[in-house]
Amino acid sequence: MQTKSRRQLVAGNWKMNGDKALVEQMQKHLNAANLENMDVVICPPFPYFSLFNSAVKLGSQNISQFDSGAHTGEVSVSMLKEFDCEYVILGHSERRADNFESDELVASKVEQVLKAELTPILCVGEPESVRENGTLFDYIAAQLDAVLGRVGVSQFSNIVLAYEPIWAIGTGKTASPAQAQEVHAFIRAHLAKQDDNIAANIVILYGGSVKGNNAQELFSQADVDGGLIGGASLNPEDFLSICQAANQ
Ligand code: PEP
Repeated sequence: MQTKSRRQLVAGNWKMNGDKALVEQMQKHLNAANLENMDVVICPPFPYFSLFNSAVKLGSQNISQFDSGAHTGEVSVSMLKEFDCEYVILGHSERRADNFESDELVASKVEQVLKAELTPILCVGEPESVRENGTLFDYIAAQLDAVLGRVGVSQFSNIVLAYEPIWAIGTGKTASPAQAQEVHAFIRAHLAKQDDNIAANIVILYGGSVKGNNAQELFSQADVDGGLIGGASLNPEDFLSICQAANQ
């Protein structure tokens, strides 16, 4: 794989999975590995945050758009900061579907995370029907524009993007490296209309059924800078082999 100027990143999204034993096994594997040329982030469910040690970067799977107060069931960015959380996944298709998170709500959460100086991992991605009806790029552009309109392009220097085609999440139906590259290049070109430098430097992850046996080829694409990993992040060996594919 050609060496990229952007630092590669792999984030594991455990979703509502895992237990204390997995925290322990994952830390053992990651602490023993030599992954110094990249960033590795684990996004566990909230109860497990305090069980991780400092060798692992932590990310949250969600955050409240509010600072504090009467919002039952929510967790604030300031609470996350107390547990050394550095990243927050926002706009994941499961939250858009299960919790009716609109582009506007996602944009307000991105703003909240940036205000606290944490890094949003902003997910965009299309359902299969959109890819089939030929409106893929309009769909992705609209998701990006909602956030661009709210925080401005300059803030994208503090954002990580993840392209996650919904039809590839948890299905075993990975986007081909060419399909991933095409959308990543589109995202970079869309941002370049407003700022060339930010477009060239932003880290864009691919997510959707990444496994140990397809990570290398996906990550070798010019505009793919690592991955957002769901299912395979629950298996320390698989997750480590995906990280190793990005650690160039
Ligand atoms: C995800 O949940 O963000 C994801 C990409 O899941 P999976 O790797 O299981 O497709």
